[in-house]
Amino acid sequence: TAYLQDKVVVVTAAGQGIGRASALAFAAAGAKVWATDINDAALQTLSGEAGIQTERLDVLDNAAVLGFFDRVGRVDVLFNCAGFVHGGTVLDMTDEDLDFAFNLNVRAMVRTIKAVLPGMLERKDGAIINMASIASSAKGVPNRCAYGVTKAAVIGLTKSVAADYVANGIRCNAICPGTVESPSLESRMRAQGNYDEARAAFISRQPMGRLGTPEEIADLAVYLAGATYTTGQACGIDGGWSI
Ligand code: NAD
Repeated sequence: TAYLQDKVVVVTAAGQGIGRASALAFAAAGAKVWATDINDAALQTLSGEAGIQTERLDVLDNAAVLGFFDRVGRVDVLFNCAGFVHGGTVLDMTDEDLDFAFNLNVRAMVRTIKAVLPGMLERKDGAIINMASIASSAKGVPNRCAYGVTKAAVIGLTKSVAADYVANGIRCNAICPGTVESPSLESRMRAQGNYDEARAAFISRQPMGRLGTPEEIADLAVYLAGATYTTGQACGIDGGWSI
């Protein structure tokens, strides 16, 4: 049987980037995947893929999240992948930026975790994977204040959930990538004016001399979904950035 045979997996922000690659990787590992996002056009690119159902889900919308998980029923694996990158230092960071970052990068994860945990606890089985970043408590990164603050909170949330339910069959781990090719990274590079220079600067942060691929991160998500002796970990996957 496949590594994740018939496991029901929900992925947030599965329309593009790491979330999309993960939805495909979970399905390839035998799972029944719910790929969710707010971008219908992006979700469309997954339609017809074996093992994947797509559904629009805004993780900022509490009623929509509750309704979605109510309809889905059993969830074996939750991959909280939705997140947003603000640029800027603490002086640049507005209250609005910090609120938005906390709402999407942290509170939305709390919301989905609360929705799946009761069922997981009943079955004494469940894996939760939260998308953090090396830019977090793992490493200070210039111009990523709101992002770093909230991704550090993701690691705190992950360890807290792991500690509370370690004896109840629930595992909760975080993924901490370095710089990974994705549509939003592309737009951040374009927004800097000189695309080639921006790209070279991102690559120069990575000691391996290249960016990561969404598929490399997806492999870790699949592993953590079935890693039965691993919980409470902030797993780095960063091309050597944090060595
Ligand atoms: P991305 O940023 O290109 O795509 C993000 C997706 O999230 C989009 O499809 C978007 O529609 C969706 N989304 C936005 N708001 C949403 C909402 N309210 N509800 C549901 N979906 C929503 O993808 P990415 O760069 O692969 O990033 C995915 C995750 O990985 C994020 O949490 C990000 O912080 C994290 N991450 C990315 C990198 C990187 O270098 N790309 C590095 C470390 C961590």
